[in-house]
Amino acid sequence: MHTQVGIVGGGPSGLLLARLLGLAGIATVVLERRTPQYLRARVRAGLLEQATVDLLTAAGVGERLARERLTHDGVEIAFDGRRHRIDLKGLTGQTVSVYGQAEIQKDLMAAHEAAGSNVVYEAEDVSLHGLTTDRPRLRYHQAGAAQEISCDFIAGCDGFHGVSRQAIPQEVIRIYERTYPFAWLGILSDTLPVNHELIYCNHERGFALCTMRSLTRSRYYLQVSADEDVADWPDERFWSELKRRIPADAARMLETGLSLEKSLAQLRSFVAEPMRHGRLFLAGDAAHIVPPTGAKGLNLAAADVRFLSEALIAYYQVGRTDLLDGYSPRCLARVWKAQRFSWWMTALTHRFPEASAFERRAQAAELSYLIASRAAQTALAENYVGLPIA
Ligand SMILES: Cc1cc2nc3c(=O)[nH]c(=O)nc-3n(C[C@H](O)[C@H](O)[C@H](O)COP(=O)(O)OP(=O)(O)OC[C@H]3O[C@@H](n4cnc5c(N)ncnc54)[C@H](O)[C@@H]3O)c2cc1C
Repeated sequence: MHTQVGIVGGGPSGLLLARLLGLAGIATVVLERRTPQYLRARVRAGLLEQATVDLLTAAGVGERLARERLTHDGVEIAFDGRRHRIDLKGLTGQTVSVYGQAEIQKDLMAAHEAAGSNVVYEAEDVSLHGLTTDRPRLRYHQAGAAQEISCDFIAGCDGFHGVSRQAIPQEVIRIYERTYPFAWLGILSDTLPVNHELIYCNHERGFALCTMRSLTRSRYYLQVSADEDVADWPDERFWSELKRRIPADAARMLETGLSLEKSLAQLRSFVAEPMRHGRLFLAGDAAHIVPPTGAKGLNLAAADVRFLSEALIAYYQVGRTDLLDGYSPRCLARVWKAQRFSWWMTALTHRFPEASAFERRAQAAELSYLIASRAAQTALAENYVGLPIA
């Protein structure tokens, strides 16, 4: 079997790319190792830049998003028990949208189903071959039977733990990485969000984040040590720790309830360069990971997919190869700016166990500078809403 673009991974990157290429008449096959049920239930990102909303809309999956998203004009930073609002819209003219990644996944899956796209779920043992030839191949097993697809190009959209990045020889890929000495423990509950906008809390017991997925579904996170066990966090312990870390007026308003989901996410900054090897192009978490503090992961994945779809469409429609050649540097310029911002937001809001007294005082000074300076707030706001697409 032959296809034009073989796509490894049916998460947001892979399905969005397949959708944009499909609308341009380019044939794709998506290989995804999980079941549709698993993908629909996976709880992850929730905050979208306007450029991501626009791309999803261009891909024909913006209808429910437009109806159900929550639009946020601002965000709060809390420290020393007080809340300070950053007016995103006033400072940049732009807003951000809250719409769960699981909903985007469902919308993309439904669109592919309706279009009759070739998405193979439960594809096992996917492997990549002949990447530096003009006929790269994908091999996999489906229901025990070996399969092979030859492709013009392969898009590696299989996330951080996928096989695509591993298929690039070590001598041609450079890894930049930082791990953090803590993780995020997240809880999802059908309770009223404590505030209509997000609250990032810097507290001596550790960072906390109040966010949401809808007007009636809340998402809260606590900074915990990297080796924490979720089983040690029954709901009551989570809620009581959250109340201690958020400002008293918010704690009084906090509605608690049964957790629908509870999970631990390690914090990591990671970039693999370049994002292309021969006819393989990496996109999304397969090439880079940011700590979730800046809410940039899914937005960066969407920007990669935009650049890759533009390059592939230009190749198939008018024979251009310059956009394919420029893909990796174009993505990486954006990726590094988002890396810097995510790392900075993490440093600003978290308590680092190994921080010296000097570093703690410098962090406090940075927070007090931020809330007093319009210039500092503008710098935060323009990164938070998303830098212009270049
Ligand atoms: C707690 C948390 C909060 C977050 N909050 C935000 C936020 O608010 N805003 C934001 O922008 N980002 C956020 N992110 C990041 C965001 O979830 C990711 O950046 C996003 O999922 C990347 O999409 P992707 O398609 O590139 O990768 P993934 O979502 O990881 O998808 C990869 C797909 O490939 C499949 N796959 C893997 N290996 C193989 C294989 N060998 N063969 C076939 N298929 C394979 C996987 O099953 C998966 O479906 C958050 C992440 C976490 C963990």
